[in-house]
Amino acid sequence: MSVIRQLPLSVVNKIAAGEVIERPASVVKELLENSVDAGARRIEVMLGQGGTDLMRIADDGCGIAVEDLPLAVASHATSKIADADDLFHVGTFGFRGEALASIAEVSQLSIRSRPAASDSGYEVTVTGGMKTDIVPVGCPAGTTIEIRNLFYNTPVRRKFLRASQTEIGHCAEAFTRIALAQPAIHFTLRHNDKLLFDLPSTANWRERIAAFFGRDIEQSLIPLDNTDGDVRLFGFAADPEHSRANNRMQYLLLNGRFIRDRSLQHALGEAYRGLLLSGRFPIAFLRLEVPAEAVDVNVHPTKLEVRFADSGRIYSLLLGTIRKKFLATDLTTRVGTKAASEPGAEAADVTAAQEHRRALVDWAKGAIPGVRGQESGVTGQDTVGDDQGALELRFEPPKGPPLELNRLDRAWPPPPISARQHEAAEHAGRQTLKYTGVESDREAYAPRSPSSAVLQQVDSRSYLGFQVHNRYLITENDDGMVVIDQHALHERILYEQLREKVLAGQMEMQRLLVPEPVTLAPTDLAAALAARETLAKLGIEVEEFGGDTVLVSSYPAMLANLSPEEMLRQVVELLTSSHKPLERRDLLDELLHMIACKAAIKAGDHLAPEEITVLLEQRHHYQDSHHCPHGRPTALVFTREELDRRFKRT
Ligand code: ADP
Ligand code: MG
Repeated sequence: MSVIRQLPLSVVNKIAAGEVIERPASVVKELLENSVDAGARRIEVMLGQGGTDLMRIADDGCGIAVEDLPLAVASHATSKIADADDLFHVGTFGFRGEALASIAEVSQLSIRSRPAASDSGYEVTVTGGMKTDIVPVGCPAGTTIEIRNLFYNTPVRRKFLRASQTEIGHCAEAFTRIALAQPAIHFTLRHNDKLLFDLPSTANWRERIAAFFGRDIEQSLIPLDNTDGDVRLFGFAADPEHSRANNRMQYLLLNGRFIRDRSLQHALGEAYRGLLLSGRFPIAFLRLEVPAEAVDVNVHPTKLEVRFADSGRIYSLLLGTIRKKFLATDLTTRVGTKAASEPGAEAADVTAAQEHRRALVDWAKGAIPGVRGQESGVTGQDTVGDDQGALELRFEPPKGPPLELNRLDRAWPPPPISARQHEAAEHAGRQTLKYTGVESDREAYAPRSPSSAVLQQVDSRSYLGFQVHNRYLITENDDGMVVIDQHALHERILYEQLREKVLAGQMEMQRLLVPEPVTLAPTDLAAALAARETLAKLGIEVEEFGGDTVLVSSYPAMLANLSPEEMLRQVVELLTSSHKPLERRDLLDELLHMIACKAAIKAGDHLAPEEITVLLEQRHHYQDSHHCPHGRPTALVFTREELDRRFKRT
């Protein structure tokens, strides 16, 4: 008995036509959804060359009967809905009946399937939309779909495919969105015969989250559960000590389907208001259960966006639930009590092992003079509430001396300090600036063409300016009074210096004796590896380590105040926060901006008079120092005329 029906044209038209298959990841998504819809307990994904050469998805689901095989690949043929009314209470991922047909149109596709009750399996092959005969084959119960040479007959599309590393990143994200929502299903993902994920079935959603995003994130999760009438919201919001520079770690599952919803993202941002710095985004894994008829999933071809019948109610539920939970949770005391809330001893072991490894790496770093420029400490601390009395090893951020590596003494060229200034400083018993930059740096940094008039002007003064509120520098020029944003100016100057260094291939890097392992989410990993060449220009060396880990073996000396892991996470956030892939040059530029911003003195940093002098002198060496790299002005001028007018002198 056939279960797949050809939909009437009226329904076909109701289903908005859309481009479903854009890249291998779209295929992975469609096929995984089909396997979940088929009730599979185990789903194996195998990809070759980022999915562009081969994608094989095997499941142990209900299978497709031989008489349904031709319909499975026919367009607008589905077993999941029968009429237009069904569109408004869809309980499955699929219902358009067009995925297999569209995939078959642009690839070489084969389906091998056997319902558990049938003795024999059958295979159908479709090449560029042309079906071959259906032949009997021996196969296990379930369905295996194989797709080769995606877009082989649409060269334009094929040309748009990115490097295998990029495509596998997208595929892994598609895989994550589905496997994250289905912890009861055992999933595996292989790429070029390398096992990327093996996720055994679990009843505990936290375990599945941990498998994807690591123990650190998992331990920071705060459970939530709340209902409003027939709408239920549950899942986890991460402690605000964890955040991201973009909203990609916000997994919102509507009836098990990953969705993106601007309004709910906004609600989430509101819930964390005041708890995160601006520009940071919360991390959350939330499930929303809404009656199927209260939401329209047929507004987007890939169903990524949906329309709620009452979105205001869901907005308030989300905002209210998280807010209330935060108020009831003492966020500050969570740090030491993590281990106590561990579900199993096994998990605690993993954490202990990770901490141990980190401690070892930290020790190794500390043992090498100059690696950090400061000493980094590993301190033992009793874990609160841990009855085994285990030591929790915590990494303490180094406390920097007033003139640190990336402030003025190292990254800056020697200033033309005049004899008079020198004397004045010595006289005052102050320590003059030390310059430890190597000789070649000085050459590389030689000011391009400082106008000698400016320098003379500089030399003829005993001081150049002073600092107010630890953030602005006040000085004068021929026109009037100049107020300078110290961070913006330093950032601009560092940016120019860095650019010159990179162009000259002279970026200073800090090589780690023990490369630091960093675990990353699949897309982040792919992005880091895809940008490897560009990163190397900046002195950041990353290598593949296997699984979800990369090794950082060097990093820019200017970023010595970040740990290599933090540094890499910052870089990765930048790599992945842009909507479109950046050209290599733009990417380099963005990275330079980021490094300059991180390394520059901050608003709030107190500057010694010598530092102010150096900063203001440097200002004239760089042509466009009037704007920081982000485009904000570095200085405001109050003309003498303006001041006169304001003081009613004219
Ligand atoms: P839809 O999922 O929207 O129904 P598809 O083109 O993705 O459309 O699939 C067409 C039909 O093929 C499905 O309705 C289903 O009956 C069948 N099918 C596809 N994949 C599988 C699978 N892995 N196991 C069982 N049946 C499947
Ligand atoms: Mg489908």
